[in-house]
Amino acid sequence: AANDNSKRKKPNILITGTPGTGKTTTSSALADATQFRHINIGDLVKEKNLHDGWDDDLDCYVINEDLVCDELEDLMEGGGNIVDYHGCDFFPERWFDLVIVLQTENSVLYDRLHNRGYSETKLKNNIECEIFQVLLEEAKESYSENIVMALKSDTIDDISRNVATLTDWIRAW
Ligand code: ADP
Ligand code: MN
Repeated sequence: AANDNSKRKKPNILITGTPGTGKTTTSSALADATQFRHINIGDLVKEKNLHDGWDDDLDCYVINEDLVCDELEDLMEGGGNIVDYHGCDFFPERWFDLVIVLQTENSVLYDRLHNRGYSETKLKNNIECEIFQVLLEEAKESYSENIVMALKSDTIDDISRNVATLTDWIRAW
């Protein structure tokens, strides 16, 4: 895997976390600061129809993981990508040089998701996902633990600090 990674001139970063933790805000600011490509998987799935229909129970698209991975293979090989998604276990491990898990305090996350107009069920599922650190566990199981980093995302200052940390990391790569 190390050999695959070393062929890239620029690293790829995965930004994951429970919905509402600030993945898209952080990824977009980091892309502005670094000229890296922001790939929002949710948007890509919608634009390119990389799904198997709508899930009424979960109130979201049923993502087709194989189609998503096929779509991104060439871009990922070139490096310089920031991938933004609330899941991380289906991407090829070799794609990423750094995996960031954003984490938000429960009451703060509750307000953000409430403002998004999430249903009670969806709210409850996502708050539980955050309480049980589901994405951090998923990231540690899917990638080498030394490339997985959890970052707090409660405030605007946290966003600025995280973007600065990640910009420095990219420059040093
Ligand atoms: P995600 O992509 O993880 O679902 P978003 O980036 O869309 O999350 O953020 C959800 C909402 O919460 C947005 O309104 C955003 O402005 C706000 N937000 C996200 N992270 C923070 C933060 N660290 N501090 C303050 N507000 C935040
Ligand atoms: Mn998002």
